Amino acid sequence: MADRRVLTNLRGLWTPDPARAWAVDRIPGAALALEDGRVAWMGRAGDLPAAWADAPEVDGGGAWATPGFVDPHTHLLFGGNRSGEFNRRLAGVSYQQIAAEGGGIRETVRATREASVDELVATGEARLQAFRQRGVVHLECKTGYGLELESESRLTAAYAELKRRGPSLGISLDVTLLPAHDIAPEFAGDAEANLRAVAEDWLPELVRRHPGVARFCDIFVETGVYTVDQGRRMFEAGKRLGLIPRVHADELTWTGGAELAAEVGAASADHLMFCSEAGMKAMAAADVTPVLLPATTLFLGMRDWAPARKMIEAGCRVALATDFNPGSCPCVDPLTILRLGCLQLRMTFEEAFTAMTLHAARSLRRDDLGHLHPGARAEVLLWDVEELLELVYWVGEPYRPRFLGA
Ligand SMILES: [Zn+2]
Repeated sequence: MADRRVLTNLRGLWTPDPARAWAVDRIPGAALALEDGRVAWMGRAGDLPAAWADAPEVDGGGAWATPGFVDPHTHLLFGGNRSGEFNRRLAGVSYQQIAAEGGGIRETVRATREASVDELVATGEARLQAFRQRGVVHLECKTGYGLELESESRLTAAYAELKRRGPSLGISLDVTLLPAHDIAPEFAGDAEANLRAVAEDWLPELVRRHPGVARFCDIFVETGVYTVDQGRRMFEAGKRLGLIPRVHADELTWTGGAELAAEVGAASADHLMFCSEAGMKAMAAADVTPVLLPATTLFLGMRDWAPARKMIEAGCRVALATDFNPGSCPCVDPLTILRLGCLQLRMTFEEAFTAMTLHAARSLRRDDLGHLHPGARAEVLLWDVEELLELVYWVGEPYRPRFLGA
């Protein structure tokens, strides 16, 4: 027997339209017919097809229904935290300066290398619960704090276990291999040797040991880290293993990372505070999703907000993400991202919410998440507000969504 239910007594339904880039359906007095965990029908309650008249009803309690948030850029698993360096940065020391002194990411790498798979899974599960409570139903997560094969392998094994636990946690995962997150201390500034180890040795071995766990591969293309040419060669190696490129691009300086993403057919280019206009046009033409991370700009105290409006004008379907990580953005809160998208990136509420649902899912090449049209996964959030815009308007108010009961 199919599991059929009808969600009724909604103040309204709000969903992006997957067939049109930035179009939104806003349906007051809506109902939603669900069958076997998928949306079968959506519309005004009075128009519910007769075939659904006998289906059990779920009471929405007068809430607004929206699709669950998709977070397309997190560094979920790492050891330790970096609250200690935070006050130094407040006192004016830059992220780059702390990194040059051996702190920053190096400190996280040391702690991550000491963590067992069980420890990583336990902290990962707690973090996933924090995301879920705030309405995130699907999340991308990267390796990258091991910077050597065995630690990267433990991170991948921990992600495999968290993927298995996903259904019971109510949050599903896409895994990205990022052993080229930085230059490992063992390679002492020799990016080229590190890149060859990643492309020729670590990536193939991670895929061999953990088949089917990762869908994507990623690299930090940045002045003083990896070059565009090195990124290109790593993506060629990743593609041979069936991994789809995404790239940390144009974050601290312009290097041409967005242009590289377009050239290699990446699913996304992420950060992009220093993206060129040519890079924006190239991403739009190649259907690369720009993933913008405004809480990172906030937390680093930078003034260069990613040029979201220019990207939208260039034809890009912009997505937003938390960038959850220990150094530059320890944030699990989608409402913070929504508010920054509106208040700093100058996106409308509809654009920012679409960027955190439909376009976030699109950046992960998933078409059944981020909207509530027929065929979508029934990942529904229920918000007890009169108007959804209040989620942004009441700044700092810690709204939590309700979920459909089992
Ligand atoms: Zn990142």
